[in-house]
Amino acid sequence: MLELDGLTVEYGDLTAVDDVSLAVAEGELCCLLGPSGSGKSTVLRAISGFETPAAGRVRIGGVDVTEAPPNERDCSLVFQDWALFPRQTVAENVAFGLKMDGVGAAEREARAREMLELVEMEGYGDAYPEQLSGGQKQRVALARSLVVDPDLLLLDEPLSNLDRRLRETMQLELNEIHDRVGTTMLYVTHDQDEAFTLGDRLGVMESGRLVQHDTPEAVYDD
Ligand code: ADP
Ligand code: ADP
Repeated sequence: MLELDGLTVEYGDLTAVDDVSLAVAEGELCCLLGPSGSGKSTVLRAISGFETPAAGRVRIGGVDVTEAPPNERDCSLVFQDWALFPRQTVAENVAFGLKMDGVGAAEREARAREMLELVEMEGYGDAYPEQLSGGQKQRVALARSLVVDPDLLLLDEPLSNLDRRLRETMQLELNEIHDRVGTTMLYVTHDQDEAFTLGDRLGVMESGRLVQHDTPEAVYDD
């Protein structure tokens, strides 16, 4: 589903991502693990088209999108802070991507409701983001990114702002959601436990390089 082939991203003299090759199979949840500054977010930005690589190719679903603008890539990026639109209801937030795609009001409403059920937030459609807890906001944001049915979901430290207990709950929920919808996911984290809990496969980054890419068991044995 996703192929990176020799991906290299430079900021002036700094090589933030150095010759990274990585394949993520359809339906797989791959965790990209590494310390802060190792280039994980830059990889996600290059995949979603917000960063132009100095070298290498990006393919999504077999299509070379290296030169394509962000809106022409079949992927959806979820940011750290899960920013919801504060003046829109939960249902409107979730339906946002569908509106952009020109989907009619009745279908938007039906699909938003379906997504809210998936993340166990049914009944909150008319609430506003400020009325929700951190974990609830994250579930709404997850629903908002899943509703457009992206081929590939990119998540950048989505749980890092939560306390430990909520983070563990959300990890389990994310795993269940992934099992149910089967969306291919690339999940960036600096938290080793989280990566081992979530990932079908693990990519380990160090100073811009991918130094390991294997199953959690094999990475653990090293
Ligand atoms: P990570 O996500 O693993 O924390 P990043 O991809 O954010 O790492 O950053 C990798 C390296 O690139 C770091 O040294 C960071 O300071 C640098 N970097 C990231 N974004 C920029 C930018 N827009 N301009 C200059 N340097 C950047
Ligand atoms: P993350 O924690 O996801 O790695 P950071 O907090 O490192 O993100 O960076 C947040 C934003 O700041 C990003 O958009 C990144 O491009 C930018 N950034 C990071 N490092 C630098 C840098 N050295 N110079 C300029 N921009 C940077």
